[in-house]
Amino acid sequence: MPEGDAVHRTAARLRGALDGRTLTRSDFRVPRHATADLTSRAVITTLSRGKHLLTRVEGGLTVHTHLRMDGSWLVTPAGRRTAPGDRVRLILANAEWQAVGVRLGMVDLVRTDDEARLVGHLGPDLLGADWDPEEAVRRLRAEPGRTIGEALLDQRNLAGIGTIYRAETLFLRGVWPWKKVGEIEDLDGLVALAQRLLDANKGLAGTVTTGDRRPGNATWVYGRAGRPCRRCGTRISRGEMGMRPQERLILWCAGCQPR
Ligand SMILES: [Zn+2]
Repeated sequence: MPEGDAVHRTAARLRGALDGRTLTRSDFRVPRHATADLTSRAVITTLSRGKHLLTRVEGGLTVHTHLRMDGSWLVTPAGRRTAPGDRVRLILANAEWQAVGVRLGMVDLVRTDDEARLVGHLGPDLLGADWDPEEAVRRLRAEPGRTIGEALLDQRNLAGIGTIYRAETLFLRGVWPWKKVGEIEDLDGLVALAQRLLDANKGLAGTVTTGDRRPGNATWVYGRAGRPCRRCGTRISRGEMGMRPQERLILWCAGCQPR
């Protein structure tokens, strides 16, 4: 699942292809906006807010997309064939470039003035220019009885963390994922580390938390269930956190992250 750093990179690619250029094609393949037509409008810019993408176009409109589980935006020279048509949800193209939204989890068209209705609930964006660690910690502390593992994924607390950064941050801080937020002494340090990990990866193609980019060496616990911990040799545990159907994968080292 794409996390904040991947969405941030996607926004940068969309800006490179669309910003300041006039749309020659807009093709919404979602029932709700099937008749929408943005051609002859210039794209102003694309912003990422947590895991949401906001593409603003002339005339006060915003295209809102979310990659959800396996969505992506493919950017190619105009006219090139990309993905099978049944997976395409949205195409935005100009004379030089086309952006093809594949398997997008959400596609909406709203007035730019109404963007807050889509993203106003989000906590501080870990990769945003307005990143506010104190506010993120304040929101986390507001529910001290919650497990830290669930609280970190709740985008209302802070926006951008998914299952990879949750697992890696908690490992690096030695925190058991089911520990209560109120029992964590250095919540500021934990939040700061999560932000550093996302920031360090925002320009890379994959996720590296170990400092070693070689395949198979890039993470401490994520993707390593059953294999020995790089620090203590204990086999990495794998489980699920949260209530169905929202439960999500968690990996941890019982040696480095004791109860
Ligand atoms: Zn360990």
